[in-house]
Amino acid sequence: MIVIDGLPQRQIENYRDQFGADGFARFMEHGAWFINAHYDHAYTVTAAGHAVMLSGANPSRSGIIGNEWRDPDSGDGVYCVADPSASYIGHKTQAYDGTSPKNLLVETLGDVLRSADARSKVIAISGKDRGAILPAGKTGTAYMYMSGSGEFASSTYYMSAHPSWVDRFNAAKPADRYFKSSWTALLPDSAYRRGPAGALPPAGAELPIMYGAPQDEAPGVRFYSSLLQGPFGDALALDFARAALTGEALGQDDAPDILVVSLSGHDYVNHAFSAESLPSQDHTLQLDRLLQAFFRDLDTHVGRDNYIAALTSDHGFMPTPEYSRSLGLEGGRIASGPMLARINAGLAQRFGPGKWVMGLSANTMALDRALITRQRIDGRALAQQARALLLTEPGVAAAYTRQQLLDGQRSAEPLFEQMRKSWHPHLSGDVQFALKPNWMFGVGNRGATHGSPYDYDTHVPLMLWGPRWVRAAALSDRVGIVDLAPTLARFLQIAPPAASEGHLLPLAAP
Ligand SMILES: [Zn+2]
Repeated sequence: MIVIDGLPQRQIENYRDQFGADGFARFMEHGAWFINAHYDHAYTVTAAGHAVMLSGANPSRSGIIGNEWRDPDSGDGVYCVADPSASYIGHKTQAYDGTSPKNLLVETLGDVLRSADARSKVIAISGKDRGAILPAGKTGTAYMYMSGSGEFASSTYYMSAHPSWVDRFNAAKPADRYFKSSWTALLPDSAYRRGPAGALPPAGAELPIMYGAPQDEAPGVRFYSSLLQGPFGDALALDFARAALTGEALGQDDAPDILVVSLSGHDYVNHAFSAESLPSQDHTLQLDRLLQAFFRDLDTHVGRDNYIAALTSDHGFMPTPEYSRSLGLEGGRIASGPMLARINAGLAQRFGPGKWVMGLSANTMALDRALITRQRIDGRALAQQARALLLTEPGVAAAYTRQQLLDGQRSAEPLFEQMRKSWHPHLSGDVQFALKPNWMFGVGNRGATHGSPYDYDTHVPLMLWGPRWVRAAALSDRVGIVDLAPTLARFLQIAPPAASEGHLLPLAAP
């Protein structure tokens, strides 16, 4: 399974004519391409999406409601894949580093596969810890890029020491070859900037980009972490996947294995420059060429008739508010601190002094439960008032209280079901909300993000290839990313993961 972090469907459609013969085109021309595939949950961020893919369970079940959230009782920050009891092998582990799937409440496809046959291997690799740990499930093995050293490492949750193929890979210092290298555009300048007439291109989004600051004489932390933003970090992840393929002898016996590679670069590029930028278009083309080379190696090492490839993304991307406004659409950036201060001031007028909203928590407002108890306040009335105040803020589309999410009476309203699928009763805050289209949290006028219930964030590629199992077709049925896990389970002849909410994808046999 290939995951491209932060790849909206529109990008593979817009640049299709510029793809090579056997990268994305392997799926689009020769595989089953679901052109109308969506996430069902509202808060579309990396961890939430990566937890859905191989579990078939929405965040309301998986417990991975965001990349981070607040403990609803204490208000303390929780990182999705943090686990103080596990540390990186051979590398320093810091507070917000991800080391285990402790917070993942559901099993994955790999867990079912490994419980059916312990010989099956499940290996997940990513530039981001959450991109590897969540698809690896409870019993697979995750390896993630270490932005301090340019190496890949696992954690003590999975093993006590790396196998020798990992040590060999890291000893060669593979990231160092990109020091003082430039990411240059693949095509001549006229091939880019395909936006509609009048659209404002994002400022400062140009190629080439050189890796390694002028004052740096040797590769260091700044250089290694910068590699994630662009194609070089993705090339490294795929090289590590090649090493895993031979090191673990994946696909070489009659017990099927799962290899997940989540390529993180596109998300970083889109955050920095937006999906409407030249670097993002070029990065899509770079990924296409990288995939083409990787598939060639899979064909050699595993054999074309011996594997199924799936490709998807964890979420799409919103165009920048400035870009949307240049096209005459409404949109904007919201400073969250002042917004919460206004809401707290409004709550204080009715309920007395206090910071009633502790803060945002994965697109919910977390109310201070200790304060509510101490002041003997009606928590439901406070949540209702917080919701009402939030709905008066510019850019807020919808909000529901815990009570409303639990009783479900508003389920006919447009965003309710999506928001309910992002909300977990024990983990989320007390008022779940969604912003209006083309609105985001942030200040200034640079950068883009994702995290909304709208098509630009929910609509992502979903494609399968494997001539023995899948017939070539572009399928326009609306399907969910939750459908991937049960469909792959069928191919593997195992039960779908227990918490899966998906259906079998409407595939025709070859
Ligand atoms: Zn992102």
